[in-house]
Formats: sequence, C-alpha cells, structure tokens
Amino acid sequence: MLHDFISLFYPAVCAACGDSLFKHESVICNKCYVTLPQSNYHKNPNNPLATVLKGRFPFMEASAFYLFKKGSRVQKLLHQLKYKNRPDIGVLIGEWMAEGMKESTFAKADMILPIPLHPKRQLKRGYNQSTQLANGMGNKLSIPVLEDVLYRKAATKTQTKKGKSDRWDNVEEIFDVYPEANLEGKKVILIDDVITTGSTIEACANAIHKHKNVQLYILSMAFAEL
Ligand SMILES: [Zn+2]
Repeated sequence: MLHDFISLFYPAVCAACGDSLFKHESVICNKCYVTLPQSNYHKNPNNPLATVLKGRFPFMEASAFYLFKKGSRVQKLLHQLKYKNRPDIGVLIGEWMAEGMKESTFAKADMILPIPLHPKRQLKRGYNQSTQLANGMGNKLSIPVLEDVLYRKAATKTQTKKGKSDRWDNVEEIFDVYPEANLEGKKVILIDDVITTGSTIEACANAIHKHKNVQLYILSMAFAEL
C-alpha cells in the first residue's frame, strides 16, 4: 500500500534513464545504478577536481562521485533533484556515495556540511539538495550532518552593475560560519550537488578556514569539467 501511495507522487520510471521501473526498484533502475559513470576520484588524490581546486584553499582531498556530461543521465538526475521536487534522488545517491566511498578517508569524517542554499531559494524549493545528499551519506556512515555551521549572508543586489572582479569578491563574501560552531581540529566534509568552477566551494572553504586546524574534504555528486 505504501508503494502504491508513493506511486501517486512519483511515476514508476527511472529518474535517470526514464525506463519503467520494476517493482523491486525505486527512484533509479538497477541498470543505471550499475552503469552511471562513477569517477572513482576518491582513489586518485590527483584527480581533475583536486587539480582545479589546488592552490586556491587548503584541503585534504577532493572527490566527485559521478562524471558530468551535457545531456547525460547524471545531468537529468541533477536537474530533477534541484528543480523537480525530487529530494529522494539526493538521499539515494548519498547512500550510494557512502557505499562507494566507505573504504576511503571520507568515511572517517567527523561531520558533513551541506553548502547552504539562499534562504529564499530553499523556501521555494522546500529542501536543500546538498543536504539530501549529505543525509543519505551521513546515515549510512554514521556521520552527523550539520546545518547550523555554515550560513549564507544576505545577497547583494548591485551585482549586475559591477565588473567581473567585483562580482567575484561578492561570491567570496557570501558564506560565513556561526561563531558558536566548533570546527577546530575536526575532519569536515563540505558537500555540494555539482561543482563546475569551484567558486562556491572556495567561498565556503574560506569561511570554514577562519577556524584553525580544520581538515577539509571536498565532495560533490558530480564534477562538470570545463
Ligand atoms: Zn535507469
């Protein structure tokens, strides 16, 4: 009955390929589970994502679970996770990330911090997609997901009139850490849904590194290499 009830809201097709799901499958079909393009970046410290971020801020390791290509199933999943009210996709992939990375150093983190959404956007969307990924992963690995550490500062409205370098400064200043957060000496995973240029991750990392001695691990569901 629960299955039928859920089917009212979620059509019984794979969120990645669109094929019909068998009864024992939910959200994403088994074929996609097996064939979605995992990066295995966590096995390679010098992976392309780490290379993009290197030198911009201190971090221990950086990894993205899937490779991103335009028009791909991974893009379709991300689109639905962000814009089509499908938080279940994030939770499931977070669980798969935990399974795939359980032997890595990521699995030994003290906490997972989702990148905060702008409050207005979160209100409209109803959830933060990065938190869904974090919850799926944190549950499986018994790592707490903390949403009371990072926050987004009020957005400035004058960005359009400014030049490119000013806009960059604004991005850098968007995030901060609540003063009562205890990050010192902690192993912290910062998680995002998709990383492209890395500027959002960099802005969050700079806020986190206001605390001393943080071992920072960067993680995303996908990396869209430019
Ligand atoms: Zn599928």
